[in-house]
Amino acid sequence: MSNALKRKVNRLGIMGGTFDPIHNGHLVAAEMARGEFNLSKVLFIPSGTPPHKNSRDVSAANLRYEMAGLAIKDNPEFDLSALEIERKGLSYTVETLRILRRTWPDYELYFITGTDALLEIFSWREAEEILTMIQFIGAARPGFDASDFLLKVQKEHPETKGRIHYLEVPALAISSTDIRARVRHGQPIRYLLPESVRLFIQQHGLYITEENA
Ligand code: NAP
Repeated sequence: MSNALKRKVNRLGIMGGTFDPIHNGHLVAAEMARGEFNLSKVLFIPSGTPPHKNSRDVSAANLRYEMAGLAIKDNPEFDLSALEIERKGLSYTVETLRILRRTWPDYELYFITGTDALLEIFSWREAEEILTMIQFIGAARPGFDASDFLLKVQKEHPETKGRIHYLEVPALAISSTDIRARVRHGQPIRYLLPESVRLFIQQHGLYITEENA
C-alpha cells in the first residue's frame, strides 16, 4: 500500500444544535460519537438564528453560546465555534458547512445532531448538496427506532447510502424542553446538565417565564 493510502484520515465532528440549554445528553452524545467514529475533535456550533424556529421562542444566541462554552471547557477534544452566532440572517447549515469545508480541507466532516432533527433533513436548504459534503450521525433517544427512516431515505435517495449513521444515546433521555419546563415549574435540574450551566441559568433568570417554553 502506498504511503498516501496509508495516510491517517482525520475526522472532525460537528455538533449542531440550538442548545437551549446545552445538557449532559448532548455532551454524552458528542463523546460517544467521538469514540465510535474515531473523531479527532468535536466542534460545538450553537445555531445563531435557527431557520425552522420562531426567534422569539429561543434564548439569545450569546447566552446559548456562553452556556455551551461553560459545558465543554473541561474536555480538550471539544471546541466551540461562534460561526453561526456571528453570521447575520438565518443559520443555514449548508453555509456553515461550506466554511468548515474550507477551514478543514483535509478532514472528513461528520455532522452530529438529534435524530428528530435529521428526520427533517430533506426540508433543509440544499439538503442534497449537504449530503455530498459530509456524513451524518443521528443521536437518538432510547427507544427511538430509526430503521424506517433509514430504509425510506436509502430507497428515495440511494446516493446517501452509508452516509447517514445512527447512534443510540441513553443519556438523551435528558432534553432541553424538559429542562426549560422544570425551571419554569421550580423543579430541580441539578445533574441533568453541568453545574456551571445550572448556575448560569439561575444567575440570568432563564426559562422562568412562558417565553422559550
Ligand atoms: P431541534 O428541532 O431543536 O431538535 C430536534 C431534536 O434533536 C430535539 O429532540 C433535540 O433535543 C435534539 N438535538 C438537537 N441537536 C442535538 C445534538 N447536537 N445532539 C443530540 N440531540 C440533539 O433541532 P435544532 O437543535 O434546532 O437543530 C439541530 C441542527 O440542525 C442545528 O445545527 C440546526 O442549525 C440544523 N438545522 C438546519 C436547518 C437548515 O439548514 N435549514 C433546519 C433545521 C435544523 P434537545 O432539545 O434536548 O437538544
